[in-house]
Amino acid sequence: MSALLDGLRAALGDAGLLVGGDLSAYEQDWRKRYAGRALAVARPASTDEVAAVLRLCHAHRVAVVPQGGNTGLVGGSTPDDSGRQLVLSLSRMKRVRGVDVANASLTAEAGCVLAEVQAAAAGAGLLFPLSLAAEGSCTLGGNLASNAGGTQVLRYGNARDLCLGLEVVTASGDIWHGLSGLRKDNTGYDLRDLFIGSEGTLGVITAATMKLYPQPRERLTALAACASMDDAVALLGLARERAGDALTGFEVMSAAALALVARELPQLAQPLGAAPWTVLLELSDAESAEHARGVFEGLLEAAFERGAVQDAAIAQNLQQARGLWHLRESIPLAQAQAGLNIKHDIALPVSAIPGFVTEMDAALTAYLPGIEVINFGHLGDGNLHYNVQAPAGVAASAFLAAHEAPINAMVYDAVQRRGGSISAEHGIGRLKREELGQRKDPTALALMRAIKRALDPLDLLNPGRVL
Ligand code: FAD
Repeated sequence: MSALLDGLRAALGDAGLLVGGDLSAYEQDWRKRYAGRALAVARPASTDEVAAVLRLCHAHRVAVVPQGGNTGLVGGSTPDDSGRQLVLSLSRMKRVRGVDVANASLTAEAGCVLAEVQAAAAGAGLLFPLSLAAEGSCTLGGNLASNAGGTQVLRYGNARDLCLGLEVVTASGDIWHGLSGLRKDNTGYDLRDLFIGSEGTLGVITAATMKLYPQPRERLTALAACASMDDAVALLGLARERAGDALTGFEVMSAAALALVARELPQLAQPLGAAPWTVLLELSDAESAEHARGVFEGLLEAAFERGAVQDAAIAQNLQQARGLWHLRESIPLAQAQAGLNIKHDIALPVSAIPGFVTEMDAALTAYLPGIEVINFGHLGDGNLHYNVQAPAGVAASAFLAAHEAPINAMVYDAVQRRGGSISAEHGIGRLKREELGQRKDPTALALMRAIKRALDPLDLLNPGRVL
């Protein structure tokens, strides 16, 4: 290994290689579920340096774990405990290479923090709509590698939908220069879509060209209390009918999820009283503030008349709107503070969600009285974070050891029966690798393995993740 480390030091300089010392920030995942040990951390500052790292690792047959902001939730961005895997951190590749206003696109390096990409777009008078609670620390490269979703998918799509071109370094250290800003390009297989969502197992993304949109004139945010999930789904239908494309956010939070926030983060204001379901709606209007408010008020009035909504509060200013979003986005933090839970990031047809929730809540209570389901997510996208927490007084570690496998089986069987997915937006990583092997269509799995063998025949890129 010392020849590899000498080569890396020569290629990256002292600032580009961390060996020994406290590397825990790179070795421990955000949820504190996976603690590993890295051979070293390489921090290249350019695409050429990334290529040099991969050439050296290829020559020395050393596995590489690409890492962005390390906010991933499925154990994909940290090394195993062998001490033989190199963490390749993109954190020094932070340059916004350019904004093309006429083409409504932006090119940035993989290590740019998402909030910085949003700010660069705003600086040019445009909107980069990808938005999620970890946006202050997750990176563009990580967003693309995990095909992140977030809170604006309803209107703008996920990271894949927003990407026009990529620059990627292959397992053997070649550079694919695919930073096209084209919206149309039918010249053979779509390599871009292959790397997006591949979780660092097929290549290392070093830069990307992303779509930008006009900034909305007005953004309005409201909370609405619903008595049932059926009512929340009815409200979604009404909001689509009334607001069309202007509906940019439709998030749902269960009573248990908001009670958890009240317990763990009591400083956060909760404007509505407790309700079985609280919906956060956002409208982004291209016309004017008056038009937006008119649509919003009309929509909520109609929802009250139909009995779909029991109570509602519209944010009166930007600060209040931020407070509502902060409440929603604090649920993962409250959960992290409360200890490990059994996480399910599932996608279902929206029409199937009420039936799923009723069936699963009853089945889990029957399975283990006192069990707590923290259910929240992007209802407008058919995406729930259906997380199961230990009953009061039961240690999280003991709960996971005894119950994770049977509870996963119950939840994922119910998801599959309804044509859903076991991973809507977080990916597979290590957390769901076994599950994927058992549940994905066998032909799809065989094709995925063939692609992996073709692009990374020595299995050096994030081995043991996804497949
Ligand atoms: P990392 O965690 O560093 O890596 C994620 C995966 O991508 C790993 O497999 C890693 O090996 C690979 N990778 C990273 N960079 C590269 C690269 N340059 N090239 C190739 N592979 C790479 N996700 C959502 O989709 N929607 C949400 O709403 C959402 N909310 C979140 C809220 C919180 C509080 C937290 C902590 C996480 C949330 N996530 C969400 C998950 C996470 O933020 C996203 O998956 C994010 O896209 C990961 O970016 P990252 O830079 O932190 O990647």
